[in-house]
Amino acid sequence: MTCPNTSCAFPQNIVRDGFFRRKEDSKIIQRFRCKTCRQRFSAATFSEAYRQKRRRINSTLMKLLSSNVSQRRAAIILGVHRRTVERRVPFLAQKCRRLNERFLRRVSGSVHNIQIDDLITKENSKLKPLAVTIAVDEHRRIILGLEVSQIPAFGLLAHIAIKKYGTRKDEHGQGLTRLFQKIAPVLAREVLIKSDEHKRYPFYIAKYLPRARHETYPSERACVAGQGELKKVRYDPLFIVNHTCATLRANINRLIRKTWCTTKNPKRLQNHLDIFMYYYNSVLLPQVTPFLSGS
Ligand SMILES: [Zn+2]
Repeated sequence: MTCPNTSCAFPQNIVRDGFFRRKEDSKIIQRFRCKTCRQRFSAATFSEAYRQKRRRINSTLMKLLSSNVSQRRAAIILGVHRRTVERRVPFLAQKCRRLNERFLRRVSGSVHNIQIDDLITKENSKLKPLAVTIAVDEHRRIILGLEVSQIPAFGLLAHIAIKKYGTRKDEHGQGLTRLFQKIAPVLAREVLIKSDEHKRYPFYIAKYLPRARHETYPSERACVAGQGELKKVRYDPLFIVNHTCATLRANINRLIRKTWCTTKNPKRLQNHLDIFMYYYNSVLLPQVTPFLSGS
């Protein structure tokens, strides 16, 4: 432990300086004092939860948000104010992004087959759609990446949307760029990529994974109304990614079709997805496929 004062001349020159009892969890925390600059600090100063008043909710909140509980309901279950939950989500997301990066480094080089797809959801209204691009390891079902990007309304809604909200920027390309930049270092060089016939994928695959093989399959009809990802066909070549999309919709309540909960801000959806990705890869997935226990 060293002095937290960045302009301190001898930051190693510290001594113990008593204790305090942290009110929130009754833990005894060691205090320190710097003999050079007289700065006082404690063992908690360096904690990533520094100055949080409700540290105890962090791990449960992560589980609730990955288990189809809304932020408001999570606040009620945890017995805290809903703004406490709102403020804590970006912190948890940041932490999960770091853990996700570490997780990807662990599986790096061992990913030979992936499936990619886009899940469509919305920001407030169907006139403002969002795309979530998903990359999944075909054999182990690991979620390799989830990227949110805004897209303009399509189909019958397109001209109503333009009338009501004006032209909406298409940022799908940026989303795909972020996804491929993150996953390219993790994938084997001659990775096999399976996807539907989305017109944008070939460009980004060629750019970021020049040695990859790309197989495309035409889209199939859904088997259950409202569950577009679960297909009617007997054998779905894109089953793994479609099933992962359905899992996301079932466990992140703002992705459920016809839900009361919606995304008000694409950045918050990205936060929620990053939290889910960590929970899914490291808690849910090992329960069904104990693939990582040995590696
Ligand atoms: Zn100092």
